[in-house]
Amino acid sequence: MKFSHKILIWTIIIMAAAFGMGGYFFVNFVFDTSMNREIGQAMDESSILQFAFETAALNIPSKYDVLQDSTIEEIGSNLEKGGQGTGRLLRLSDENRTVLYASEGFVEDTEFLMQIQEDTRIYQVIRQGERYYVQTGTVIDALDRILYLETMKDVTGVFEERTQGFAVYRNLTFAMLLVGSVVTFFIAAWLTRPIRLLTGAARKMAEGDYSSRAQQISNDEMGQLTCDFNYMAAALEENIHKLEEEIRAREDFIAAFSHELKTPLTAIIGYADLLRSRKLDEEKHFLSANYIYTEGKRLETMSLRLLDIIVTRRGDIKLEDVDVAVLFEYIRDMFGEKEDVELRVAYDKGKIRAEANLLKSVLLNLTDNAYKASFTEDGSKAVIELQGLRGEDGYFFGVRDYGVGIPEEEKRKITEAFYMVDKSRARSKNGAGLGLALCTEILKLHHSELVIESTVGEGSLFGFTLPCEEVTVDGTQKTD
Ligand code: ADP
Repeated sequence: MKFSHKILIWTIIIMAAAFGMGGYFFVNFVFDTSMNREIGQAMDESSILQFAFETAALNIPSKYDVLQDSTIEEIGSNLEKGGQGTGRLLRLSDENRTVLYASEGFVEDTEFLMQIQEDTRIYQVIRQGERYYVQTGTVIDALDRILYLETMKDVTGVFEERTQGFAVYRNLTFAMLLVGSVVTFFIAAWLTRPIRLLTGAARKMAEGDYSSRAQQISNDEMGQLTCDFNYMAAALEENIHKLEEEIRAREDFIAAFSHELKTPLTAIIGYADLLRSRKLDEEKHFLSANYIYTEGKRLETMSLRLLDIIVTRRGDIKLEDVDVAVLFEYIRDMFGEKEDVELRVAYDKGKIRAEANLLKSVLLNLTDNAYKASFTEDGSKAVIELQGLRGEDGYFFGVRDYGVGIPEEEKRKITEAFYMVDKSRARSKNGAGLGLALCTEILKLHHSELVIESTVGEGSLFGFTLPCEEVTVDGTQKTD
């Protein structure tokens, strides 16, 4: 059942109970008040009749010292007539509670008569046919005779008023319920609108539309819920995009990997087949064996780099204070001796927070790339500059070359695994397009990133910044 319908049904139940009980108590209150008034009037009339009877008895001529039954009847009849128009009914009984006079229509039952005691005035409400009466009873002491006076007052009107009251209230309750239900229906629909909007948005999201959001139409708790839902949906959408991105990257990676694997393997298989199927002259034999060797080497480099990336992605490294000199001197040791390289190293002293071996690998890859990019057929030396600059943001490492440079549109892609700007040139130098991907992963672990500046034909600068110790005025160092 819909939430708005539940609100509607419960409101109707509560309204019906409230109106019903309220009406019942109100009508009964009015009835009780009227009845008390009628009973009071009946008792007053009883006492007036008692007094009138005693007065009338005293006025009887003295020859009748004793009050005759016939006189009692006569007085009774007079008293009844005296109340004509008011519907007065009375009954007079003697000491033995034998009825002497009774108005026409007076109740025949004598049970009440038997209950009348001296010095008291009692009453009861009785029903006779369709009519209701207040019956009163009292004792009259007249001329040594004890008589019983009973009266009956018609109170049917009060009962009819009560019945009418109930009828009016019942109709009123139905009308109120009808109006209340219509109003509640619209209020419930209005109150539950944010829920419907939320449900709609959630359903769309479940169907795959992650950009779907619920419209916030109020600032109350429901509005807050909508706001939180949208916030959650935005986070979810972002995560799903990230996941999709990751899946796409993985698929690209696998496609590129299988392609990169196929190229050297095809060459290796082709040349190996040539070697085993024909007798080649010495030069061709050497060339074939050399292809197999270089392509095999490339496969080896690729598998080692891949292993490095996988290990690095696990992200479990321990950062320590590393003297930058150790890093720069390591590169100098690796490239300084090469005859076709002019390595210029200039760096500020300092210590950085890093994992030394991983950072050596980054610098080695960048320097190797710079070397490969500067390689010329004419045998001129490759100039590579290694810079270490202490700045406000941290310690900047830069590797500059004056080689081929990178086209603007390629800059973003070269850090992707297996991406090579010039494939044949890269492959001829044992490249597999994994070096910069590895550098990016390592720098991510150091909360840093690769910055590339390059102009085609002029060269490139690859750099990154790491947190370092601050140098104070007196030359001592402290960690960031
Ligand atoms: P690899 O060097 O094994 O090919 P990398 O991931 O290190 O793989 O580099 C990817 C590609 O980026 C290289 O193939 C090359 O085309 C380009 N590249 C990298 N460094 C430089 C550079 N210093 N100058 C010009 N191109 C570069």
